[in-house]
Amino acid sequence: MIQLPYKHLGGYRVVAANQQELQSVILQRMALRKVTALVYANANMVVQCAPWHERFDDPRVIVANDGVAMDLAARWLCGGRFPSNLNGTDFTPYMLEHCGRPMRLFLYGARPASIEGAARALQAMGHEVVGQLDGYTVLPEGELIARLRAAEPDIVLVALGNPRQERWIIDHLDELPPAVYTAVGAYFDFLSGLAPRAPRLVRMLRLEWAFRLSLEPRRLLRRYTVGGYEFFRQCWRERHSSARNARATA
Ligand code: UDP
Repeated sequence: MIQLPYKHLGGYRVVAANQQELQSVILQRMALRKVTALVYANANMVVQCAPWHERFDDPRVIVANDGVAMDLAARWLCGGRFPSNLNGTDFTPYMLEHCGRPMRLFLYGARPASIEGAARALQAMGHEVVGQLDGYTVLPEGELIARLRAAEPDIVLVALGNPRQERWIIDHLDELPPAVYTAVGAYFDFLSGLAPRAPRLVRMLRLEWAFRLSLEPRRLLRRYTVGGYEFFRQCWRERHSSARNARATA
């Protein structure tokens, strides 16, 4: 099995790799029919999932880095930034383009209009959508897992927002059929054209967060201020508690 380098940040073991390296691991695990959870640690996810962060420390789970706050924290506490910004909205299309064959996709999450538009866009890319469920329909316990087993997808795109999407994947790891389960946030909204993505230049300047803030200030202001402070505090605390533990066991 290919081993990727990691950085320990905010209580998570975060892959420090580029898109190509991450893709090789995904393809290898897919070929071996392994359950793989691919989630993205950004400042909001790190804070929201903090109470159960140990559960990400599972060999089936890959945590990739997303966003400028992770890079700043890595420079501050881990001696250098991450080699790439591996957010779901950019890595998911890369993964789908570089699989070497059409993928069987199951889409889970977002509003019905969004999931419909995303399904059409993904089919237009040559992939097969073998199942879908919007993120607001509640099925009886076990029904979604049964649908996943019957559909036999290669990749399940989970778009429920932070931290619901990560929680759903982690909570069901033991019962999920083999596939790649990846948390994709607002990807279906972008794919369907129901939400605008920041212009390329804004993304290159790593200011996508500011673009999103300008669109949804009421919802996101607290996330980027109080949440941002909490993120750096948590990274600092985790760094110092692991250094203390290392000294205590030395
Ligand atoms: N979403 C969902 N069910 C929910 C909450 C959110 O399916 O209960 C979907 C939402 O429709 C959107 C995606 O999750 O398509 C990402 O949501 P949001 O933008 O709120 O998440 P963020 O990326 O800001 O955390």
